[in-house]
Amino acid sequence: NHRIRLNSRPVGAPTAENYLLDEVPVPTPGEGQVLLRTLYLSLDPYMRGRMSDAKSYAKPVEVGDVMVGATVSEVVESNAEGFTAGEIVLGYGGWQEYSVESTGHLRKIDPEIAPISTHLGVLGMPGFTAYAGLLEIGQPKAGETVAVAAATGPVGSVVGQIAKIKGATAVGIAGGPDKVAHLRELGFDVALDHRTGNLRQELKEAVPQGIDVYFENVGGEVFDAVLPRLNTFARVPVCGLVANYNLTSLPEGPDRSGALMGNILSKSLLVRGFIQTEFAERLTPQFLEDMSGWLKEGKVRFREDIRPGLEKAPEYFNDLLTGGNFGKMVVAVGAE
Ligand code: NDP
Repeated sequence: NHRIRLNSRPVGAPTAENYLLDEVPVPTPGEGQVLLRTLYLSLDPYMRGRMSDAKSYAKPVEVGDVMVGATVSEVVESNAEGFTAGEIVLGYGGWQEYSVESTGHLRKIDPEIAPISTHLGVLGMPGFTAYAGLLEIGQPKAGETVAVAAATGPVGSVVGQIAKIKGATAVGIAGGPDKVAHLRELGFDVALDHRTGNLRQELKEAVPQGIDVYFENVGGEVFDAVLPRLNTFARVPVCGLVANYNLTSLPEGPDRSGALMGNILSKSLLVRGFIQTEFAERLTPQFLEDMSGWLKEGKVRFREDIRPGLEKAPEYFNDLLTGGNFGKMVVAVGAE
């Protein structure tokens, strides 16, 4: 069983020294447990937070422990009622080839509905994050304008496509011309490149009506460009700040919190952070039903960036944090 453990806590961007690849015997499932063989491992931005011991909403991975992560796996051996060898499940096996898990949190996957890897993306946690954050907090109405960055990723692409389903105008922001072209294919009304250095002006010209919902995925310079464009009563679901995840301290410059609070006050903005687990119990069944339907009808499309080799996961993870991915980042571990 090859696995990748946390060797030390990164300072800034993670490096090879922060990980340890080793091999141990395949584990044996206890009573009520299953042995799973990882087919696909999800890489997600939140894992950067788990590598750090800074106070957060979830406890960190301990140094020496296997890196955590959602997995689509095949049941190899079952000591648990209701699970049989050969079934495909969504679990939380982490960065390794085999895992032993209790079955309470496992979700069985029907391979007939969609490719099984999509349960890590559009039909999984990222798709759910977009659905819950946009509909519960953003609450876009027909005719309004919804903007999102990291817009070709599994969260952002779903935000834009649900905005369209709800009759809103969708504005997508992404890094580079290929991603911008893909946003147009997905049906975004406006697609902008944040790497041009001119985003603030481009937004002003392309979105003269202003923004009613800004789904915050990145923070940093994109947020600076969006803030002046927010309309009165705009909603800002704060989902992620990926531009900050590798920072070791706050960026240099004057304290801008006064200007931010001034905007919140004078434009009656709703700025509301969330972690998707808050909504999971209540909304997951509805999400699965809606999203399966939208996929079948072609109203939501998805793009995956599936790469081979568990041992390369650290390299792929750095790509994810810096925009080197194009679509949902997945590692093919045991999948052909
Ligand atoms: P993505 O696949 O979209 O990958 C992250 C993307 O962020 C990169 O591809 C890159 O896209 C963009 N990015 C990175 N650095 C910058 C920067 N400095 N400025 C602008 N864009 C940048 O990731 P996900 O869809 O999985 O996640 C999107 C966000 O949602 C993340 O912030 C994540 O932490 C958050 N999230 C939050 C959850 C919650 O419960 N609150 C749950 C799941 C995700 P590009 O090349 O287009 O710039």
